[in-house]
Amino acid sequence: MDVYEGIIIKHIDYKESSQIIYVYTQTGLFSFLLRGANKMNSPFLGSKNTLSYVKIYASGKSLKNVKEMEIIKSYPNIKLHLNKYTYVLHMLELIYHFADGELNHDKSYPFLIKILDKVELEAEYVPYINMFEAKLLYLLGVNPLFHECVICKDTHDLTFSIEEGGMTCVDHTLKKQPYSEECIQLFEFLYYYDLQNPSSIETETKTIMELRHLLDEYYMYHLNIKTKSRTVLEGFIGY
Ligand SMILES: [Zn+2]
Repeated sequence: MDVYEGIIIKHIDYKESSQIIYVYTQTGLFSFLLRGANKMNSPFLGSKNTLSYVKIYASGKSLKNVKEMEIIKSYPNIKLHLNKYTYVLHMLELIYHFADGELNHDKSYPFLIKILDKVELEAEYVPYINMFEAKLLYLLGVNPLFHECVICKDTHDLTFSIEEGGMTCVDHTLKKQPYSEECIQLFEFLYYYDLQNPSSIETETKTIMELRHLLDEYYMYHLNIKTKSRTVLEGFIGY
């Protein structure tokens, strides 16, 4: 029997009463079969939910059979708040989408756990979601460059360009960018934020709204993705 520890990032019904769960761990994404998980007398009932931090004892090669599962953390606060939960589902969808590709799990897995702990605790949690998205760009190799023109390395009069993936100087700025300086500063601040050495995060709603659109646009342009949860969230928060 093998032991796994990780976050359930997705679950789907399987046959009449079973479930398949996708668990993100330090070594990547694994799928497991929870036999009879949807039956009322199942020991797994209630623990199969997406976004639980679990320890799993399983056997089998391709589709592993769960023998026993312990919940380490269930993030009750996140699950209680619909917007918060939807923001988190957006992050989990991104992980699911990129887990088989470029992602370095040694870095992205512990980072996800840290962000989930923050989001669970903080009332002002949105910057931590944005921080996750900003740093994930680095882990996916499409990180923005903030300190110099991406083309000529000039460091004066820079503006942010989504298409160029960072700052551009006057000579290399092709079109006027719609994003305010505050928005780019917040993006940069969150991108470099050190969770081991936390400083206070001060933001205004309008800057958060702007950054939401910038991140959406950046992810669409460089990674061609908009998550389903992001679309759902739009209905909840109005932008
Ligand atoms: Zn330049």
